[in-house]
Amino acid sequence: MGERLDLKFLARYPFLKESQEYVGERVLDLDRFLSSGYGRLILNRGAERVMASIGFKGVLPGEQVGEPERALYSYALARVIVSCIGERDLIERLCRYEAAKATALFLEEGEEGQKFVSSRLGIDLGSREMPVVKYVELASFMRSESWRLVNRAVCRGRVRLEREELIELMREQIRQIIQKQLPLQVNAELCEKIAPMRQEILRVLQEQTLQQFGEVQESSFPPCMRALIDAITSGRNLPHQGRFALTAFLHTIGLSNTEIVEIYRRAPDFDISKTMYQVDHIAGARGTEYTPPSCATMRTYSLCIGKDEFCERVGHPLRYYLRRKKGAKKKRERGSGDLPGDSPAGAADDGEIDEERNRVAETIARHRREDEEKKDEEQQS
Ligand code: SF4
Repeated sequence: MGERLDLKFLARYPFLKESQEYVGERVLDLDRFLSSGYGRLILNRGAERVMASIGFKGVLPGEQVGEPERALYSYALARVIVSCIGERDLIERLCRYEAAKATALFLEEGEEGQKFVSSRLGIDLGSREMPVVKYVELASFMRSESWRLVNRAVCRGRVRLEREELIELMREQIRQIIQKQLPLQVNAELCEKIAPMRQEILRVLQEQTLQQFGEVQESSFPPCMRALIDAITSGRNLPHQGRFALTAFLHTIGLSNTEIVEIYRRAPDFDISKTMYQVDHIAGARGTEYTPPSCATMRTYSLCIGKDEFCERVGHPLRYYLRRKKGAKKKRERGSGDLPGDSPAGAADDGEIDEERNRVAETIARHRREDEEKKDEEQQS
């Protein structure tokens, strides 16, 4: 690759140091940038990027970047937007989306470009192996059992891997790079500028979350929420943060306000009008819908109670609920006992991972076919 990287190339991999330097050198005053017409346009593009990450289900081969400079700036602003909103789930979605997008573009990249990106990530695609330490660092975030080190061939401190697997690990590395930088420290005045889009983004996130959650299933509640309900049922009063967390959780997974109030009816200090007011408020009657706190915040308030092995793989009580629920569904469908989807290590969207893996494999196969066709054509001419 040349000394000065091509702008189109940088736009395809906005997480690279060079890409961020490009933006940093040109946008010295973000406040001023956002006050310009161009800045507002890019801010909208950044919001579109965040919205795309909310609805993201998998990467389509043939991913387009668009006008490179706008793409680079919109990536930067998407990070600002999710940092201002501060929802961990939103940040995670953006990281997954951006990593998958960059990986899809990587698969379409020429040999020289692929070498450059993979060397920046410290992954040698040609070697078909990876040092154990690096492997564990990346594979510990992969949910399928097949990624566990005990299930891999290891030779002289290196794990043997197929090219497709190396590409999956590369995507995970990109996700980790992006995630480590988030949330950004953004000052309050700048966050004010994104306030108009905040509500809409949260609304879409909420909608998506509700779609994901479907029917309420109490057996899949995380231990912390069960502990809060048990406390009410056994006649103990909840601290304010506990009421907030439980109400926001129950609202997000689809309980109606009346059903939530019914749960609080068991509390010794139950006051129907006060409870209805609080529930309505958290559920968004006054314009702002709240989502439950992350595990880190729950810990701060000493509300992380009864942590179990599933908790190790989640950062949010909602994520716990969703994963347990999916696991239970798979178990019912297959009519058997222990299944990957219902185990802590595989407590995730194995179906989605398989789909993603298939897409990567399909894209690689398509490239191979194209290469072969090209060779045939060359030989014939
Ligand atoms: S780790 Fe998270 S989901 Fe598990 S009990 Fe603690 S707060 Fe709840």
